Amino acid sequence: MGIDVSGRNTELRVDGARLWRSLMDLAQIGATAKGGVRRLTLTDADREARECVVGWFCAARLDVRVDGVGNLFARRAGRNPLRPPVVSGSHIDSQPSGGKFDGAYGVLAALEVMRTLDDAGATTDAPLEVAVWTNEEGTRFTPVMMGSGAFAGVFSVESIHAQLDSDGRSVGEELARIGYAGAAPVGGVKFGAYFEAHIEQGPVLEDSGRPIGVVMGALGQKWYDVVIDGMDAHAGPTPMELRRDALLAAARIIERVNGIALEHAPNGRGTVGRLEVQPNSRNVIPGRVRLSVDFRHPTTDGLTAMHDSLLVSAAEIGRSSRVHIQVVPITDFEPAAFDRSCVDLVRNVANSLGYPNQDIVSGAAHDAVYVARVAPTAMIFVPCKDGISHNEIEDAKPEHLEAGANVLLQAMIARAS
Ligand SMILES: [Zn+2]
Repeated sequence: MGIDVSGRNTELRVDGARLWRSLMDLAQIGATAKGGVRRLTLTDADREARECVVGWFCAARLDVRVDGVGNLFARRAGRNPLRPPVVSGSHIDSQPSGGKFDGAYGVLAALEVMRTLDDAGATTDAPLEVAVWTNEEGTRFTPVMMGSGAFAGVFSVESIHAQLDSDGRSVGEELARIGYAGAAPVGGVKFGAYFEAHIEQGPVLEDSGRPIGVVMGALGQKWYDVVIDGMDAHAGPTPMELRRDALLAAARIIERVNGIALEHAPNGRGTVGRLEVQPNSRNVIPGRVRLSVDFRHPTTDGLTAMHDSLLVSAAEIGRSSRVHIQVVPITDFEPAAFDRSCVDLVRNVANSLGYPNQDIVSGAAHDAVYVARVAPTAMIFVPCKDGISHNEIEDAKPEHLEAGANVLLQAMIARAS
């Protein structure tokens, strides 16, 4: 029955108004006064949001299953049940003061693809699935991208269940409490391909005026704690040349972190976002400073070079500032290069739909970065207002969201044919 969707249904388009309504409806759950959402993972708001999307999945006649870390999968049968599904999704948990589009767009764009096919009575050859990954944001429970990481075998299910929030409640208990400790095994499932639509969360597409970003991969990340030990001393009696000022050394490190990133332009990034000064007193030379360093780069070689530069600079600054500097690596994410054929497909589809587009590298990590380790993966970016995300004022244009969902629709149809 229905239309044979074998890569020829290029005339199919999503219903952009329906997609927008669903985004606004979901944003009512955990809505904040400033127009954002607060839907921390595995809270009652997360449960309510899950129940809302599961209701929509069932209305679209999708088969829903839940795995042992609470990841949701909603399947639309294909003609050939032996083929691995073509999957698309993202997350519906949010930052404590998050926006309406981060994550939610990827889930609801995938749902809109299913609804569109349903309206057309169309069947693909391979099955299609929507994925909703547990705890992408990592604010209530660490690590970030927990559900997709467990799916990709990066974290064991036991270690995930044992993670505690600041009140001592575990992921395992909270999954059971909200009714999403599922029976399906975690991972070990083959995907034909995985596509994730997402707002860019940066300013590049808005700046260029192009509605579609063809995501080549994601920047790798290296995070450090830097601890600088000098000597507390009185601001008056201590001559400048005899000081061991930890904050002055920190200032020099901050300058270098910026310089190292600029030496690796255009995609190198270096940020010091956190500083703790001791004793933090107006008339005491600071004896100890802790600061964070966040380096990002699209290649492993680039990240390694940035790492080496930081160590050399820290040693030099330690000597010249007469302080002891310890650089402690705390997190290491390899750069992700997405699958060439999936990336090319996204670009070709965007071109055939007439959407101006450009290649782009994701500065943020996404569930797709972990899924890319076990399945051919690509992402589709759309612009967000002023490049702002992880903020209640996060905003995006309905026509851009619609364009991204149309690219997703045609990419999934092509890959599933
Ligand atoms: Zn996200």
